Amino acid sequence: MMKEHDHTGCLRPFARLAASFSSFQQTYCIEQKEHFRELVQKQRPGAMVLSCCDSRTDPALVFACAPGDIFVSRAIAAFVPPYGSSAGACFRAATAYAVDALKVQDLIIMGHTRCGGISGLVAGHGDGPLADWLEVGRPVLEEARRRKPRADRAVLQRECEYLAPVFSVHNLLHYPWVEKALQEHRLTVHAWLFDLEEGELHNYNFERHEYEFLQEMPRDLVP
Ligand SMILES: [Zn+2]
Repeated sequence: MMKEHDHTGCLRPFARLAASFSSFQQTYCIEQKEHFRELVQKQRPGAMVLSCCDSRTDPALVFACAPGDIFVSRAIAAFVPPYGSSAGACFRAATAYAVDALKVQDLIIMGHTRCGGISGLVAGHGDGPLADWLEVGRPVLEEARRRKPRADRAVLQRECEYLAPVFSVHNLLHYPWVEKALQEHRLTVHAWLFDLEEGELHNYNFERHEYEFLQEMPRDLVP
């Protein structure tokens, strides 16, 4: 039996998570038993969200979802590799399943500000699996440097954060199953940016080539 408490007497993270499962049981397995039984037989999510692995950007939490609402895949910095790249086989499988089997109507790439993955890309040091993965975003960094040649690291990071979801969408458009679904007008692809600092959500407008608010922070609610 694993020890549930650390040396200070606090519950260890795994034990807190296991204890919290009772809340899920109460809400979904007991209070919403009939609906949950249907879900057990078949999931029918309307959208797929690809987000960063960051602990602050869980799509189910950010969008107040219940089980069955969204199909999720996560990758550091929410990068989508080009089709045919040796990276991202897991994501290719997830998108193919979401688009062809689940027939989701919306596929959303959600990047975010203060992204540790983007920070690593801009800092450019380190090696190993993380550095290998961040190489996927190399074109993002090159484009940011081209647009802001004299920018300091913070500005460059922000520029990369703006560009990354758009870069990922452009790669995604070349995935054959996505291309086919778009041609058949049964799928829409979105590039979103979750601004952690401001608590706001932006959508990239591909016609105007700029982000626009999806959800602005209500100013009358800001203390
Ligand atoms: Zn991130």
